Amino acid sequence: MTQPLLDDTHDPSAQSWVESANAPDTDFPLANLPFGIFRHDFEERPRVGIAIGDRVLDCLAAVRAGLFNTVDPAVRDALTSWTLNPLMALGRSDARDVRRLAHRLLQAETPEGAKARALADDVLASTDSIGMRVPAEIGDYSDFYASIHHATNVGSMFRPDNPLLPNYKWMPIGYHGRASSIVPSGTPVRRPRGQSVASPDGPPTVSPSGRMDYELEIGAYIARGTRQGDVVPIARAEDYLFGLCLLNDWSARDLQQWEYQPLGPFLSKSFASTVSPWVVTLDALEPFRVASFTRAPGDPAPLPYLDDAADRARGGFGITLEVWITTEAMRAAGAPAERLSRGDFGTMYWTLAQMLTHHASGGCALRPGDLIGSGTVSGPDRGSRGCLLELAWRGQSPVTLSTGETRAFLQDGDEVTLRASCEREGFRRIGFGTCAGRVMPALA
Ligand code: CA
Repeated sequence: MTQPLLDDTHDPSAQSWVESANAPDTDFPLANLPFGIFRHDFEERPRVGIAIGDRVLDCLAAVRAGLFNTVDPAVRDALTSWTLNPLMALGRSDARDVRRLAHRLLQAETPEGAKARALADDVLASTDSIGMRVPAEIGDYSDFYASIHHATNVGSMFRPDNPLLPNYKWMPIGYHGRASSIVPSGTPVRRPRGQSVASPDGPPTVSPSGRMDYELEIGAYIARGTRQGDVVPIARAEDYLFGLCLLNDWSARDLQQWEYQPLGPFLSKSFASTVSPWVVTLDALEPFRVASFTRAPGDPAPLPYLDDAADRARGGFGITLEVWITTEAMRAAGAPAERLSRGDFGTMYWTLAQMLTHHASGGCALRPGDLIGSGTVSGPDRGSRGCLLELAWRGQSPVTLSTGETRAFLQDGDEVTLRASCEREGFRRIGFGTCAGRVMPALA
C-alpha cells in the first residue's frame, strides 16, 4: 500500500475563485474535486466533470480551451471521453495529475486559476442546468458483506443460535451482482414483484414485495484492470481502486428470504441499485484514512494473503454515512427529511484492499470501471444500523417518524437519501453529495 500522500490539494487554507466552494459546509471544496459524468440540458453528449462547490468544471470545454495542455495527450483524451472508464484505466497516478491541475485551475491565487477564471462562462456548468449519469460503464458489479455488525444482526434474525457462519472471519463474503440494474441518484425505483411465502416451506405467491428496504453502502470503482488469472498482492491493492461513491443496494426482503438459499440473493437485489454520481478519489480521502477494524481477541488473524502492516495501520476510511427519509405525507406537510441512521465506514470488519485482493485471488479479471459494493454499513448501536431490516428488527420495532407514521419497511412514495462526509481537525470537510431514490408503486 502506498504511504500517506498529502500535498497542496489537502491544504485547508486554499481558496477557490468559485465562491460556493469556500463555504464550510459544501461537499465539494477545492480539497475534494470528485469526478463524474454529466450532460448539459442543451446536448445529449455526456462529458467528464469535476465538482467544485455548486458548479462543475466541464473537462471537454476545458480541454478545448487549452487548460489541460500540460497533461499527457492520453490523459487529455480520457478527459474528453463519454465515461470515466478511460481515465480509470490510466490508473491512479494520471488521475492524481488531473486532480492536482484542476486544483490549480480552480484556485483563486494561481496563474492557472486566473486563466481558467477568465474562461469561466465556457468551462463552468451550473448544477441546475445539467443531468448526472452513472459515471462509468460498469462491466461487473460485486457486492460484499463486510460489516460484522450487519452480518451478526441479520444472521441472528434468521439463525438465532448461529448468526455468523464459520467462513465470515476468514474471508470477505460477497456475491456477483447485476451491473445492468445500476442507476444514478434521482432515478425512481419501481417496487418489484416476485415470489414470497407466508410460511417457510411455502407455497409461494407472486405479488409486489411487501418488505422493500434500502442498504447503506460504499461503492468502489476499479482503476487499473487485472488479467484473468492475475493476483493482486494486498500491498498493491489500492493501486487498483480509483475512488468511492455512495451505493443503495435496494432489497426486497420477502423475496430474498424465499430465494437466498442455497445460492444467495438473486432477484431480490437485482431490480435496482442506486449510485451517487460523483466519484471521490482515494487521493481526496487521504487525510481521512484510519486503522483497519480491531478484531476481538478470540478472532483469527487474517490469512497471509489478506494481511498487510500498512493495511492494518491505515486500510480503513473515516467516512460518516447517513440515511434520510422523506415520505409522501412529509412532503405534503412541507416537513424536512428525517435522519434514520448515522454510521461510520471505519467500523467495517474487512478493508476495501482485502475485498479487492480476495476478489482477484479467485482468478477473475477486474476491469476499469467495475464496481465493488462494501455491503451494508452498520455499526454496533441501533442508531448506526444501515438498513430498515435491522433498524426495525424484521418489522418487530417499527421506526416512528415525526409525522406519526411508522415504518417497518419502505412504502410507495418514500424517498431515501444517503449522504456521507469526512471531517478531521486541520483539514477541509469533504462530502460525497447525495444518493437518492423514490419508491414507485409496483406495476399491476
Ligand atoms: Ca448489499
